[in-house]
Amino acid sequence: MEQIRKDHLRLTETGSDTLNLDNMPIVVYQGFSIHGNEPSGSNAALAYAYYLAAANGPEIEDTLKNTIILLDASYNPDGLQRFAYWANTNKGKNIVSDVNEREFHEVWPGGRTNHYWFDMNRDWLPVQLPESRARITSFHKWMPNILTDHHEMGTNSTFFFQPGVPSRVHPLTPKINQELTAEIATYHAKALDKIGSFYYSEERFNDYFYGKGSTFPDINGSIGILFEQASSRGHAQDSDNGLLTFPFTIRNQFTTALSTIEAARKMRTKILDYQRQFYQDVNTENKKNKVKGIVFGDSKDAAKAWHLAEILDLQNITFHELSHDITVNGKYFRKGYSYIVPTDQKKCKARKGHV
Ligand SMILES: [Zn+2]
Repeated sequence: MEQIRKDHLRLTETGSDTLNLDNMPIVVYQGFSIHGNEPSGSNAALAYAYYLAAANGPEIEDTLKNTIILLDASYNPDGLQRFAYWANTNKGKNIVSDVNEREFHEVWPGGRTNHYWFDMNRDWLPVQLPESRARITSFHKWMPNILTDHHEMGTNSTFFFQPGVPSRVHPLTPKINQELTAEIATYHAKALDKIGSFYYSEERFNDYFYGKGSTFPDINGSIGILFEQASSRGHAQDSDNGLLTFPFTIRNQFTTALSTIEAARKMRTKILDYQRQFYQDVNTENKKNKVKGIVFGDSKDAAKAWHLAEILDLQNITFHELSHDITVNGKYFRKGYSYIVPTDQKKCKARKGHV
C-alpha cells in the first residue's frame, strides 16, 4: 500500500512523464454528510462499505484491484449525532410526514455544524478545526484523483450532481477539470435513470470557493464533486414531489457512490493523466513567473504571522523564515516575524498568461 501511495504521489512531481499509468490504481476519496443534519450520506456510507466488502463478481473485483478508496463515512460525527438525537427523540410513534411536524424543525444550533458550531464546509482552506486538519492531512498524504462530497438540500428539490453553474467556476480551475466532471456525471445520470430517480446538473451551486469540499480538490489537480439530495430531514416528509422517505434519500446517495467508482474504473488512465498534466503545467508556468517569492509578516505581531505560516504548512505549501530583516516596496519585514513563500513550487498555481 505504501509503495502504491508513493508511486501515486510521483504523478505530482517532476519527471512524471516516464510513469506507466496502465498499472497505476486511481485514488478516490469519498466523504459524507459534512453537514450533520444532511444524514442520508453517512447512512448510505455504511451500506456502501458493506457492499465494497461483500460484493462479488468481475466488475467489483476489477474496481477494487484498480482503485484506492478512502472512505470518510462521516465528515462530521458530532453534528450527525446531534441531528440523530433530535430526529429520533422527536419523531411520532407513528411517522408523521406533515411539514409542520416538530421532527423537521431542529432547535438551534442544529446538526449542520461540528462540536464547535463551525460550518466545516467553509474550512477546507483555513483548516482551523480538528476534523479538517485530519482530513486535509489525509488529502495531501494521498492526493486523490476524485473527491466526492455528499450533501442534502431543500425537501422540494430532487438530486443534484456537479458540474454546477458553468459561469460560477473559479478561473484557476482548468477547463478540462469541468469536462471530466461532466463525463463522470454521465455515470451518475445513467445509474439514477436505472432506479427512476429525478436529478439535475449545471443549474445550481458554484464551483468557485476553494474552502468548500467539492471545489478544494479542483485547485489540487483532483476533481471535486458535489452531490445534493433533497432532504427528508427526518423519517418521511411531504414534498412537492410526493412523500420523501429517508430510505429513498439513502438509496440515491448509495447509487451515486457506486457510479463514482464506476466512472473512476472506466476513466482511470484519463484521470490519472489529467493529474500528471496539471502538475506539469504548474511547473512550466511557474518557471515563467516573474514574481519569485511572496513575503508576509507583521513586525509587531509574530504570532499572527506564525499562524498564517501554520495554515500554509497544513496545506503543504513550502515557505521559509526570513534570515535577516528586509524592506520591500517601503514595507519593513523583521526576522522572526516574517516568512517568504517561493513561487516555484507545486502548490503555486498561476493563471495561464497572467504571471
Ligand atoms: Zn450541506
